[in-house]
Amino acid sequence: MAILKAVRGTRDLLPPETALWNHVEATARAVFARYGFGEIRTPIFEDTSLFARGVGEETDIVSKEMYTWEDRARADSDSAQSLTLRPENTAGVVRAYIEHKLADTGMLQKLFYIGPQFRRERPQRGRYRQFWQIGAEVLGPAWSGSDSPLRDAEVLEMLATFLNELGIKNWRLELNSVGSSTDRPRYLIALREALAPVKHLMCADNQRRAETNPLRVLDSKDPQDQEIINKLPRIADFLDDASKGHFAQVLTALDACNVPYSVNPRLVRGLDYYTRTTFEFTIPDGSGLGTQNALLGGGRYDGLSEMLGGPKAPGIGFAIGEDRLILTLQAQAEAEAKESGASVSACGTWVQKLDAFIAPMGIAQNAAALLLAKELRAAGLAIEVGDGSFRLKKSFEAADKLARRMVILGEDEIASGILTVKDFSAGEQTKVARAGLVDFLRG
Ligand code: AMP
Repeated sequence: MAILKAVRGTRDLLPPETALWNHVEATARAVFARYGFGEIRTPIFEDTSLFARGVGEETDIVSKEMYTWEDRARADSDSAQSLTLRPENTAGVVRAYIEHKLADTGMLQKLFYIGPQFRRERPQRGRYRQFWQIGAEVLGPAWSGSDSPLRDAEVLEMLATFLNELGIKNWRLELNSVGSSTDRPRYLIALREALAPVKHLMCADNQRRAETNPLRVLDSKDPQDQEIINKLPRIADFLDDASKGHFAQVLTALDACNVPYSVNPRLVRGLDYYTRTTFEFTIPDGSGLGTQNALLGGGRYDGLSEMLGGPKAPGIGFAIGEDRLILTLQAQAEAEAKESGASVSACGTWVQKLDAFIAPMGIAQNAAALLLAKELRAAGLAIEVGDGSFRLKKSFEAADKLARRMVILGEDEIASGILTVKDFSAGEQTKVARAGLVDFLRG
């Protein structure tokens, strides 16, 4: 029979790698909590129209990458609801903000999420069809301060702290202001005018973008088109005083907090509701992800809540590609191990060995071994138990792989209450009284 495999673009995460995933998520939770964020969990599937309206029908995500199906109440029923696996989480968070009337609290909402997202993209390293995002949204009525440049700088400083605490090296923060909803139409006119005489010289993709969504031409990595793109008008020259002032305040606060950044005038977002600060964190080298793949992206928005039928709620959000974060950490650990000549596996750094492996010497000691394990576990130690049918050599091999120490439990040990403990790193064997075992294993 053919062996069934995980669907293309999806994958299983197994131990010990999952220890690293948990470490990343625990760090995110700890850091975000210090900045006053609370966790939100929205459903993994939503009404398709949420994404059509909230992400934008003209985007690649909605036009070709969503997993959508008609959900019928009954097989013979005519009425079906179109449902979609979430391709991103901002739309879901804003829907929940509206549905639960969070605006009525009058308070700024700081919400973070961790979970899988789904896009039918061509799978490659760092690009999957089920991938994980760690993200957050800060939003609320304007009087809650949701418009403030301080919020943008706070989010960016939090992200820098998060990456530093994880030990991500060489990250680069690029940011730009894409202006307000009144700045952008003026810029788009200038951009279309500048593109008109040169667009036929560009690659097919950019010719199409020049027509449908000229902002996306600025994103293009096509090497032949770079010279033309670099000469196009810059949005910075089209910002009104309020937008310029907002961006200047973000940069001043980042300077004050010593967060390094570079302004990239070509960094834009294709959707109308993105306003002002837009940013990306990238890893220029070492992650093997290639330059096209940002680690995380985000930006300020205004108008999204209204598009979903809610009250005005400006905000700023980001989504970190957790898969790419993990790949980066693994690549960095591997590079460091190579440099120091150590032979640790990339995940080795994040996996804690168990405190002890209990080896019953015969079937007759199995029950006593399980009881001893129960008591040690209750004391907070991490314990594995062998089996009385194992030969001593097999117990040693299993114990050495899993634990720092092995506790031998035979008839004599049970009778005398004196246990033999083998320490693998020291290579020593010690006699320890049962009453002192917890303290000994903690040491
Ligand atoms: P986006 O929601 O497209 O702005 O993406 C935010 C972040 O999610 C990106 O910077 C990536 O790190 C990550 N990401 C987006 N799409 C994928 C994917 N198909 N596989 C893995 N990570 C992704």
